[in-house]
Amino acid sequence: MSTEHGNYIDGDWIESESGETFAVSNPANKNEILGTYQQSTSDDAKAAIEAAVAAQDEWASTPAPERGAVLKRTADALEARKDELTKTLTTEEGKTLSEAGGEVQRAIDIFTYYAEKTRDLGGTMKAASAGNKQLYTKLEPLGTVSLITPWNYPIAIPAWKLAPALATGNTVVFKPASAAPGVSLKLVECLEQAGLPSGVVNYVTGSGSDVGAPLSEHGEIDAVSFTGSTAIGTIVAQTATEDLKRVQCEMGGKNPTVVMPSADLTDAVDIVGSGAFGVTGQACTACSRAIVHEEVYDEFVAEIVDYAESLTVGDGTDDVDMGPHVTESELDETLEYVNVGREDGATLETGGNRLTGDEYDDGYFVEPTVFSDVNADMRIAQEEIFGPVLAVLSVSDFEEAVAVANGVEFGLSASIVTDDLSEGHRFIEGVEAGVAKVNEKTTGLELHVPFGGYKQSSTNTYREQGDAGLDFFTSIKTAYLN
Ligand code: NAP
Repeated sequence: MSTEHGNYIDGDWIESESGETFAVSNPANKNEILGTYQQSTSDDAKAAIEAAVAAQDEWASTPAPERGAVLKRTADALEARKDELTKTLTTEEGKTLSEAGGEVQRAIDIFTYYAEKTRDLGGTMKAASAGNKQLYTKLEPLGTVSLITPWNYPIAIPAWKLAPALATGNTVVFKPASAAPGVSLKLVECLEQAGLPSGVVNYVTGSGSDVGAPLSEHGEIDAVSFTGSTAIGTIVAQTATEDLKRVQCEMGGKNPTVVMPSADLTDAVDIVGSGAFGVTGQACTACSRAIVHEEVYDEFVAEIVDYAESLTVGDGTDDVDMGPHVTESELDETLEYVNVGREDGATLETGGNRLTGDEYDDGYFVEPTVFSDVNADMRIAQEEIFGPVLAVLSVSDFEEAVAVANGVEFGLSASIVTDDLSEGHRFIEGVEAGVAKVNEKTTGLELHVPFGGYKQSSTNTYREQGDAGLDFFTSIKTAYLN
């Protein structure tokens, strides 16, 4: 028995005017239907936008600490349902319970963080040119914003957009990814439970073309915050800027970890392996290229192969290291890239197969995969795969390592493993990435610092997280009193 879930528009859970729904199933067992969701139309999207516009003045004029209190109660509601949300996340997206628990905790922390931030919102008093004048700045909400999110972090990413948008007095229309809408629906329930007024957040499920597109182009939307692929983000950015909306698109990655001869090899293997195979490689910041100094290349390849082969793969609700792909099409894409790697002449060291057998046949499981002898211009070294596939490249010195790290169209996260601090600093200086790390995996970042990419990984105008997250959702007004 699966439950039918509604859209949340103007404080009511309602059906789409289409009368149609789509089903979401468990990627570890495709026969288990988890729920059905509204196959919404552009008219549903417009109804949600109208509700958000109507609620905007009152929410903007609600004192910021009161808005913060709603965010804090949301964090409390999430905390009270943490186990349930974790299980929902694992069963609809596939990451392990431990990874899902970490993601839900991140959402709780984000709401707590921005709840506290509301007490500091305001502006800055400036020195004026005469004693009888006053000069200050004031932050104002943008108005009504669209939030469009991907399936791979289906509660943390909505949280890091919703919390700062609401803290700063905006109203929201939120479209989750169709592959994993259930855990974000529960987040919206927590907002409702926390006393968020009707119309302030509106949740609409449905396809990117029917719901996402109107949310990027509608004239009453003031800003669009999108996270997803570079292909779709580019369309969203072009559409949204046609009438000069503010837009922020955080997109794909092809993240490198450089391994230098001074590195402790066991640390390097852990850093690369956890970055590459954690969350089944389905992270925008996943390590998909290990760029390894030739002096330690052979030893590194042998050890990372051992690491990959030591991982247990299975249903994320069991005690496993790596869960399934989220959908069959994502699995097929990974397998297609394995073929591409082979055809282009890379050496398949381990993995590369769909897992079969009783416990695997109904899910989208793939082996952790390592390619060696990868050249920097091969497709598996250039294109985002979004699966547990690692390309290992050999370089002869630091300069070549940085050049190879930078030789892709993406620039999201990058790391180096080295025992030489000055080399770490030179890497931070030279690498073209929004996040540069030393002796850390490419995935994961503390929530109070800016997150975003360079090049095709981002529109690179505003960052997310921390104070940067507030900047995107506010306008600065300068006040001058004589
Ligand atoms: P996606 O296919 O680009 O979809 C992202 C969102 O856009 C979904 O809600 C999707 O709806 C919607 N959408 C699709 N077509 C649209 C259109 N024409 N107009 C407006 N919205 C549209 O990405 P995904 O497969 O969900 O997520 C994986 C990608 O996200 C990877 O490339 C990954 O690197 C990237 N990502 C980036 C970050 C970051 O912070 N840089 C973080 C996480 C993920 P449907 O689901 O209904 O198609």
